[in-house]
Amino acid sequence: MALNFITKVLVANRGEIACRVMKTARRLGVSTVAVYSEADRNSLHVSMADHAFYIGKAPSAESYLNKSRIIDIAKSNGVQAIHPGYGFLSENAEFARMCNENGIIFIGPPASAILAMGSKSESKKIMIKAGVPVVPGYHEDSQEVEKLKQEADKIGYPVLIKAVMGGGGKGMKLVNNPNEFYEQLESAKREALKSFGDDRVIMEKYITSPRHIEFQVFADTHGNAVHLFERDCSVQRRHQKVIEEAPSMIDEEKRKDMGDKATQAALAVGYQGAGTVEFIFDEDTQKFYFMEMNTRLQVEHPVTEMITGLDLVEWQFKIASGLPLPKTQSEIKRRGHAVEARIYAENPANSFLPTSGKLLYLQTPKPSDQVRIDTGVVQGDDISVYYDPLIAKLIVWGENRDQALNIMHHSLNDYHVCGLPTNIEFLRTLCQHKNFRNYKFNTNFIPLHQKELLSFPSASNRDLAMASVCLLIKEQAIADETAEKLQRKSSPWYKLHDFRVNYEETRNVSLISDKEHKVAIKPTKSGFDVNVAKHQFNVKGKLIGNNTYELETEKGIETWRVLQNEEDLWVINSEGSVFVLKIKQEEMGEIKAQESSISHVIAPIPGKIIKIIGKEGEEAKENSVLIVIESMKMEHSIKVPRNATIKKVHKKEGDFVKAKEVIVSFE
Ligand code: ADP
Ligand code: ADP
Ligand code: MG
Repeated sequence: MALNFITKVLVANRGEIACRVMKTARRLGVSTVAVYSEADRNSLHVSMADHAFYIGKAPSAESYLNKSRIIDIAKSNGVQAIHPGYGFLSENAEFARMCNENGIIFIGPPASAILAMGSKSESKKIMIKAGVPVVPGYHEDSQEVEKLKQEADKIGYPVLIKAVMGGGGKGMKLVNNPNEFYEQLESAKREALKSFGDDRVIMEKYITSPRHIEFQVFADTHGNAVHLFERDCSVQRRHQKVIEEAPSMIDEEKRKDMGDKATQAALAVGYQGAGTVEFIFDEDTQKFYFMEMNTRLQVEHPVTEMITGLDLVEWQFKIASGLPLPKTQSEIKRRGHAVEARIYAENPANSFLPTSGKLLYLQTPKPSDQVRIDTGVVQGDDISVYYDPLIAKLIVWGENRDQALNIMHHSLNDYHVCGLPTNIEFLRTLCQHKNFRNYKFNTNFIPLHQKELLSFPSASNRDLAMASVCLLIKEQAIADETAEKLQRKSSPWYKLHDFRVNYEETRNVSLISDKEHKVAIKPTKSGFDVNVAKHQFNVKGKLIGNNTYELETEKGIETWRVLQNEEDLWVINSEGSVFVLKIKQEEMGEIKAQESSISHVIAPIPGKIIKIIGKEGEEAKENSVLIVIESMKMEHSIKVPRNATIKKVHKKEGDFVKAKEVIVSFE
């Protein structure tokens, strides 16, 4: 066969997936072109590429979703193929068609397959025809409200309403009983219209103990299709995945049956390239049903790579170049167990709402054959409000599930992020949960065990004592350094330091965690005597690296990390737990007063303002919705704190806001 292998690819994405795709491209000798928005000028994916082009402002609508701009760059730079990654334009049939018309290979399925699978009603009709089981429900065209109500009654409650064009859990509403039907239908339609410009819905029987089991499929341009086994993605919050693993607990017979159905599904839509067929697996009846097909590379594809030893992006390149599938079904083997944890900038204790900010400190476990880290950020980067708050994916491999989870736990212990809240502590707790370890979980796992999973220890007296010692050691180190720089033994800094150590002056510091704690530190000949809430600690210590301290107590020698960022003190204790404390300073009182004031409404989370209800000079009624913010694919309403007159609206609809930015002020 004449080989016209792709030699230059444009990656129409950002972050970890753009880096991931370029890694394989480089290995295959394919040159890479990156595109970037204003917010990403200094990001990793730009520095990894052979060439990078600016495509617009930070909001994705003005950059990563600008189809014609991206095609123009591809055309004027001799690019043969575009890899869309996931999200953004990856499931955009119009973009696939535009690539085609401009003589550029879209690394993905044909536009027709994207269209067929993008609709939850259309795809279900195709699956029924192809003999693939679908969840019992209503997938017809009529959207007449009374008709929908009758059909819901027929299905039997609980019923799940889904947007026909839905994705990412949006427009999905659960109806527990007939009384809730109209309200939930309206809410689903509203969310669907806003997100997908289409308010049509389908309805499904709600499976009460479901597992999410999906099959990785591949099809080539020669009519062959195979599957690369399954992934269990049942551990979800807000209908979005957090942990994915392979294999799942299904037996060989079931695996074969589901795998066959998955390849049938791909063939039924004339599929090409990488895709995922998602099934919902009913624990009670052991039956499985087609849920949807994602026509792209999936976030969790590394799990499959770890158990098969295959590079899925390499397969995508080969198929897009017209080559046949690299392996037949019987040649595809799996080994061991792989688990992926998604590390997000989010606050589990606050309904998993996304956070943004600077990665002040970032330390990852050491990558190895068994530990893989896919990321698009480095220390010092910002997690911005514009895009997905994913920091990294941590993927581990073990000979069996237990070993994999042990490695995951150790790796999470070595994963430290300071500067913004993350879900790392939550993931550590989750990986150790008895039911999760014993394979006793379904998609309700996180909500069901919320209490155990979300009870994080607050800083102990010992944590406070050790953190204060580190603060003092740092202060002395700075004093030493300054004195050395000045080359003057008479430096006041030097003297100060001298004075403290030799004259045993007691220092007091107030640290705020759940409440204010007073810590007293008295330097001794060899170390420090620390007093917190009448507890006494004797500590010796030294600075051994950037923000890293070696502390010695009666418990032996431990490594601690402490970083100060203005009034925030980030502490990583010797066990790997991260705490953020506030150092009490004079101005703090004022900041706090401002925050809790009822004279204005601040953004509780970073995100995009979807709606502001009310204008300057208008009355706002207590408890009515004032602002709607979209963050992480979800809408959040902010209510009026008291009856008031709007004095000033500081932002407009469509603006992006950081957490704590003032949006509306009252008289
Ligand atoms: P997957 O099904 O691949 O595991 P998710 O279920 O987490 O991924 O998300 C569904 C899709 O939505 C993915 O393609 C993901 O990249 C995309 N996505 C997630 N966040 C955003 C965002 N903020 N903007 C656009 N697309 C997003
Ligand atoms: P999206 O396109 O938004 O990803 P899906 O149809 O793939 O929507 O469903 C997302 C998640 O919602 C699934 O992983 C599962 O946890 C849950 N879910 C979907 N359908 C059902 C159902 N019929 N019964 C129970 N849970 C469901
Ligand atoms: Mg889905």
